[in-house]
Amino acid sequence: MASEVLDIVIVGAGLSGISAARFYLDVHPESNVVVLEKDTSIGGPWGKSRMYPGFWSQSGIRMSGFSDVPFSVPKDAEVCNDIYEAKYVSDYLENYVDSHVYAEKPLRDRIRLDFAVGRITKALDIWIVEGEQDGASRSFKTKRLIVATGITSEPKMPILAGSSTFGGQILHQNDYGTFMTQPSSIAQKVAVIGAGKSAADAVYGLVKAGHEVHWIIRKSGDGPGAFTNPADNAKGPFLNDPELAATRMFATMSPGCFTQPNAWTRFLHGTSLGDKVLEGVFNGADEKCKKIGNFHGRPGALDGFEDLESNVKLFWVTGQFGLIQRPDFWDTVAPNVRVHSHDIARLENHKVVLKDGPSLPMDVIVCATGFRNDFSFFSAEQRIQLGLPHLRADDEAEASWRTLEATADKEVLQKYPKLATPPPVSLAPDSPSLNRITPNRLYNCILPITDHSIAFHGNIYGPNGFRIAEVQAIWTTALFDGIVQLPGKQAMQQDIAWVNAFNRRRYPTKGALGNFFHYDMMGYLDRLLGQVGLTSYRKGWWADLMYPLIASDLQGTTGEYLRKYRAKMEGERTDRALGVGGG
Ligand SMILES: Cc1cc2nc3c(=O)[nH]c(=O)nc-3n(C[C@H](O)[C@H](O)[C@H](O)COP(=O)(O)OP(=O)(O)OC[C@H]3O[C@@H](n4cnc5c(N)ncnc54)[C@H](O)[C@@H]3O)c2cc1C
Repeated sequence: MASEVLDIVIVGAGLSGISAARFYLDVHPESNVVVLEKDTSIGGPWGKSRMYPGFWSQSGIRMSGFSDVPFSVPKDAEVCNDIYEAKYVSDYLENYVDSHVYAEKPLRDRIRLDFAVGRITKALDIWIVEGEQDGASRSFKTKRLIVATGITSEPKMPILAGSSTFGGQILHQNDYGTFMTQPSSIAQKVAVIGAGKSAADAVYGLVKAGHEVHWIIRKSGDGPGAFTNPADNAKGPFLNDPELAATRMFATMSPGCFTQPNAWTRFLHGTSLGDKVLEGVFNGADEKCKKIGNFHGRPGALDGFEDLESNVKLFWVTGQFGLIQRPDFWDTVAPNVRVHSHDIARLENHKVVLKDGPSLPMDVIVCATGFRNDFSFFSAEQRIQLGLPHLRADDEAEASWRTLEATADKEVLQKYPKLATPPPVSLAPDSPSLNRITPNRLYNCILPITDHSIAFHGNIYGPNGFRIAEVQAIWTTALFDGIVQLPGKQAMQQDIAWVNAFNRRRYPTKGALGNFFHYDMMGYLDRLLGQVGLTSYRKGWWADLMYPLIASDLQGTTGEYLRKYRAKMEGERTDRALGVGGG
């Protein structure tokens, strides 16, 4: 088994892995960095191998890309409220890894594609990362490791009774792109299972490709997703709806995980008048999602179309949500797609049998059922040590974590009493089945408490993957450079308990793992940059508050970092060379 010793190994070449490699190399161009990627292309869902027709970004052009290279699309590209087809991100990332050259070696040449990491162990202070490439085992050794495998890499397939008797194709949304490029001369009967944006994309794409499409949304779940329109709120400084959501002002509309209360947020979250203001804002948004498809009066709609009306409460994010970018989406779905609001009882030979419903003849099933994230390359024992989700029953420290989380929970409710009364959801975070597993217990959702030689990037949900990837990259580089002053162990534990308790209360269907930050991304980014000592407020107080955080707002962070810390880093390097102090 071949083996190399490296300064940093990064697992995963999605936005997080690429960004981590780039910022670290910007600061340490001579260092030996390798990125290991299991896919045949870089980019995760944005990569060429997972791209599919109809995949449009949910972020606008100026919200996309990294701060050092502006993202753009060709002049003749179709663009809708600054929103664009995701394939342009593939091109951007491919160019990005070519154009970043350090010590005469492009970033691309540091990425090993088709390398699936299967096992990670640690011997003394060396990480050993093992995997397979071209059928041969390989390992890399490193003192520092960044795990950037994302939260959308491992398909979560539903357990469907009788699937071995089905006889047709059953695929996950990850393979939808490949499926759509297969030549198919005949229209097939295709069932799409799922309630969210990926299901909606698949349904639309399959109708356009001429298939007979059935959209199955399980009755026992939280119902169909809430879909918004990019043009909603495209006014004033906002080019589309997601831009409004990426402002600090909008973030104040939500109880904040990472922000300190001020007079305005105390008014919003602590008075009955504030409550009314918020109800007006969020109920208005819910109503827009209900109206968007004209679900009860659309001429020519097939029976069942009305079942697509969402009951998701956007304030609480009680279910799936997303942006419908295609102007003809509802006109395409309504007269062509058969919607079934049923659980699946079982599969039979080329049939989907619905519980309390019909049996549907079917050729193909597309499971748009999301992803799991179980870090299977770590052993169960490592997952406990590192603070990754694990069985509560297996953890000796569980009782003390429970005490911390109970204290934090009281603080959350004291600060935000409204969070004590969430709307009903199908599976609340404290339901026994979810409660068997711990949340992530990582400081800043990045760092294990007891091991500071490993960082987890992208193990977090937030509305803009680019911004999170870039800021996490800066934070971890600063950590490895000894610039971030970490709190003590107890303070870190309390902080983690707070974040997890907040997540559970704030996001009743999605907060169980402590890494869901739909309305908390701005606070999270400000916190990380603040801990590094870099400026996140760069446009003047009014624009910083009211305008969206776009890619170019982080321009110049490498320069700022180097100006501030070069002398310190060089001093430490000299000290190390002379054998003085630690490092
Ligand atoms: C269909 C879809 C649409 C989306 N649309 C948007 C959007 O419009 N805007 C937005 O901001 N976000 C969007 N997202 C969220 C998206 O996850 C983030 O934008 C971003 O991709 C996260 O980057 P990441 O690097 O953290 O994770 P990923 O991009 O998932 O990258 C992780 C990488 O790790 C690799 N990997 C996993 N396991 C291993 C292993 N064992 N060994 C080696 N490599 C491994 C994967 O192959 C992958 O390339 C979307 C996600 C999906 C699935």
